[in-house]
Amino acid sequence: MEKQELLRRIPSVEKVLEVREIVDLGRELPRWTIAESVRGVLAVLRKSISSGARTGEAEMDEIVSGVRASARRLARRGIRKVINATGVIIHTNLGRSPLSEQAMDAVREVATSYSTLEFDLDEGRRTSRTAHVEKLLRRIVGCDDAFAVNNNAGAVLLALNALAEGKEVIVSRGELVEIGGSFRLPDVMEKSGARMVDIGTTNRTRIEDYEKAITESTAILLKVHRSNFMMTGYVESVSSAALSELAHRRGLLMMEDLGSGALVDLSSLGTTREPLPQESLRDGADMVTFSGDKLLGGPQAGVIVGRGDLVEKMKTNPLARALRMDKMSLAALEETLRQYLEPDTVAETVPALKAISTPPAEIKKRVDAFCLMLSKGLGRAAEVTASEGESQIGGGSLPGTGLKTFLVGISRPGLSANEAIVRLRQCAIPVIARIVEDKVILDLRTVQPGEDEILAHQVIDALAAGGEQVERS
Ligand SMILES: *Cc1c(COP(=O)(O)O)cnc(C)c1O
Repeated sequence: MEKQELLRRIPSVEKVLEVREIVDLGRELPRWTIAESVRGVLAVLRKSISSGARTGEAEMDEIVSGVRASARRLARRGIRKVINATGVIIHTNLGRSPLSEQAMDAVREVATSYSTLEFDLDEGRRTSRTAHVEKLLRRIVGCDDAFAVNNNAGAVLLALNALAEGKEVIVSRGELVEIGGSFRLPDVMEKSGARMVDIGTTNRTRIEDYEKAITESTAILLKVHRSNFMMTGYVESVSSAALSELAHRRGLLMMEDLGSGALVDLSSLGTTREPLPQESLRDGADMVTFSGDKLLGGPQAGVIVGRGDLVEKMKTNPLARALRMDKMSLAALEETLRQYLEPDTVAETVPALKAISTPPAEIKKRVDAFCLMLSKGLGRAAEVTASEGESQIGGGSLPGTGLKTFLVGISRPGLSANEAIVRLRQCAIPVIARIVEDKVILDLRTVQPGEDEILAHQVIDALAAGGEQVERS
């Protein structure tokens, strides 16, 4: 058929919109997604005919299924829920720590109405938006004063700008960390206006190295927690206590960037200890910063605790406004911190701590039931195995510390692990898994309790479909 004739036969937008299936689709999806998809599908068709790439007429069925797929894509939210079966608890790409239901209730309450964000009900006048979380932090951490900003990178930027602009900050070469590309300590220091003086060597820094580097321009001795990597072998670094002692003897400040920010002793939850801000302060640190959405298990935030006069300088710094937290995150942070006031239940109520503290035996039980569901659903179509493995805390916390877990391994003849993992990502609730030795590996430690069944159904549907004969229960 001639190009002109093919082009002439492309139906009009109006015509497609009148097709039964498209009208039905309109009852399910927003109108704009359908109108845009019809125009898009027809435009692509026109282009491929004009370019000669297409030489046949387009059937209405083909157009309809193109529109349906495109409209469904457009109607889906960009940020949406996934099932994290990676076993990485604080997974930065998957949103770090999930919030508790209580924290979410607090968010919903303040987000859908007016709130006391910057209002004191007793006095009937304006207060600071962080007043509520400051009070809790003073209680939990035992600090003089506290502040919270957008994230920990912001907290470090603000602290250095407020306390060391135009001055020198001494830091060990072994602590010049990069956290996921966008946070490189030297870059943040430069932007803060402080001059970085890096001392020691990659593997060893001694107190004398700090001492020798101190000049009249020095303002801060900075200690950065190596939260996402480990150094072993011929290594040496200076303790918070020794560094604080030196700083104070020389009239300087000692600041510690803890990064991960555990507020409870994780060894009581069955994993390796992380330094606590309480301890850094006790060891003499003047200021400590850490993230809200790592081991604390709350929303994205950067928490600053320390000496009142220093915190005050940060609160009144113009950057504080640029870095301020919004009401939803503040509500979530306050509620998460409240959960720490009940030390006996915090490992149950804060989801990140719950995932860390789940005993392997409990996971094993879930894995056994899960494997049974998969075997029933997939029959001989797939090979399902359970094996011992390790979960990771992730999020730049406790590097090298694996938590004992039980893994589900799935291999499906006729389907590569790569293809399988793509299908899992395309589920209604996308499933994020990993591949080990050409097997799909699921770690239930990071799957929210109560989601095992829906996960199993999705896995069965994703892996059973594909043309082969499958036994269904
Ligand atoms: C994670 C981390 C940061 C950055 O914290 P964000 O809250 O992600 O901005 C900074 N320093 C250290 C040591 C960290 O571990």
